[in-house]
Amino acid sequence: MSVKVRFAPSPTGPLHIGGVRTALYNYLFAKKMEGTFILRIEDTDQSRYVEGAEKYIEESLAWLGITFDEGPHVGGVNRPYRQSERKALYKEYALQLVENGKAYYAFDTAEELDAMRKELEAAKVDNPSYNAVTRMKMKNTFTLGRDEADRRVSAGEPHVIRLNVPLKEELRFKDLIRDNIVVHSSTIDDKVLLKADGMPTYHLANIVDDHEMGITHVIRGEEWLPSAPLHILLYKAFGWEHPQFAHLPLLLKPEGSGKLSKRDGLLGDFPVFPMEWKDPQSGEVSRGFKEDGYLPEAVVNFLALLGWNPGTEQELFSMEDLIEAFSLDRINKSGARFDIQKAKWFNQHYVKALPNEVLVELVEKEVGETKLAEQLVQLMKERVTFVREIVSEVPYLFQEPELYDEAVASKKWDDLAKKAMPIVIELLQTVETFNTENVHKAIWEGLPSHEIKPGKVMQALRLSVTGIGNGPDLMLILEILGKDEVIKRIKKALETLGA
Ligand code: GLU
Repeated sequence: MSVKVRFAPSPTGPLHIGGVRTALYNYLFAKKMEGTFILRIEDTDQSRYVEGAEKYIEESLAWLGITFDEGPHVGGVNRPYRQSERKALYKEYALQLVENGKAYYAFDTAEELDAMRKELEAAKVDNPSYNAVTRMKMKNTFTLGRDEADRRVSAGEPHVIRLNVPLKEELRFKDLIRDNIVVHSSTIDDKVLLKADGMPTYHLANIVDDHEMGITHVIRGEEWLPSAPLHILLYKAFGWEHPQFAHLPLLLKPEGSGKLSKRDGLLGDFPVFPMEWKDPQSGEVSRGFKEDGYLPEAVVNFLALLGWNPGTEQELFSMEDLIEAFSLDRINKSGARFDIQKAKWFNQHYVKALPNEVLVELVEKEVGETKLAEQLVQLMKERVTFVREIVSEVPYLFQEPELYDEAVASKKWDDLAKKAMPIVIELLQTVETFNTENVHKAIWEGLPSHEIKPGKVMQALRLSVTGIGNGPDLMLILEILGKDEVIKRIKKALETLGA
């Protein structure tokens, strides 16, 4: 049987980076197995629906190169792919369970439910819930009788449909990552499957769709592990075989314990969302990896290794490499520490690996047209983590220095430098074609005849031209600035720092 997996986000806001990783692992597994990957939008909870969230999910994943074979935006044989458009289906299935006694009607009002909970709490019941014991004191098919329950439903009385969870049953299943899971049914309450407004709850819709769509593997975040036994129970109630489950380890805070949250991003000054998101209600803006300057290749590589390992020392993986190497049995059980330094390291690598013409385009976008783009790229490519730094790290290429680094000046602007700089000016004046090679030659051949070792005054020269003591290749900087500008700057330094 061919593999079919799905990514099933709820459009309740921007997709968290952990959700992106879930989508990525599903994608890699589908591609590796030559299977099908579905996007399903789980939007049954209308109260949590957020305008724009679905579009955000699609755009973010498309940016990263995570594509779907089926989904609301691409169509497919299992359409529709939004649960809100599949409403009738869930009701049918819920009624099927009522019919065979695996689910039942309940008519309790919010006040009655509240009163029950308070009573149970007062009696110090550990886990107050609507279950096989407590249901017998409530208003439902069990206490009213089937005929009366049916009559009330026909009369239009508000009601929900609840799962009839057996009191004593051991639920076992094997998770592909966490191995054998055993849960006792007494820990599960009689979950609502169909709400009073006729909408399904997450659990019902999720199981019905995974079944209807022929999902073979459910790969999702660990936060859904507690729901899995209930889902197994639902599959049993329907008499369906359940898909295989793989619950992915949590993404942990940079410190290494606790779940990574939006707050951690604020505290640590890094994004936890793939793209920028503006909350339509509050207007609050959350930063994204994309806008922060991360390349999609870097984000994919970074996320792939947050919870999965190739079993070798290899760290750099293109999407193709990942598809080739990926397997579910190399997903780690323990949480993965979110280390933004690692993401930066990957970005640095992928920026360096970009062809020059692509980088030139990106730099031009960054600063508007600049004739310097090509030279900037050549100068900075090896030294930056983000494309924008190709420009921002070398402000002196655009503007002469106003200030000179004092620490460098006090050490390097010495008598030798003061003697050498006027000579350097003279030497540079003789250079016709002002390029790295000729400039280097003029200085290195010219200074020794004045008993000056060029190496001794290079930092002073750099200081006079850039205002600071370090940076990329000085000869290249001189070439980019051009003869007149360089000479002008050395003169200014002599005036300001002393001759
Ligand atoms: N709608 C759920 C979510 O938002 C899907 C969980 C699952 O994959 O089963 O994560």
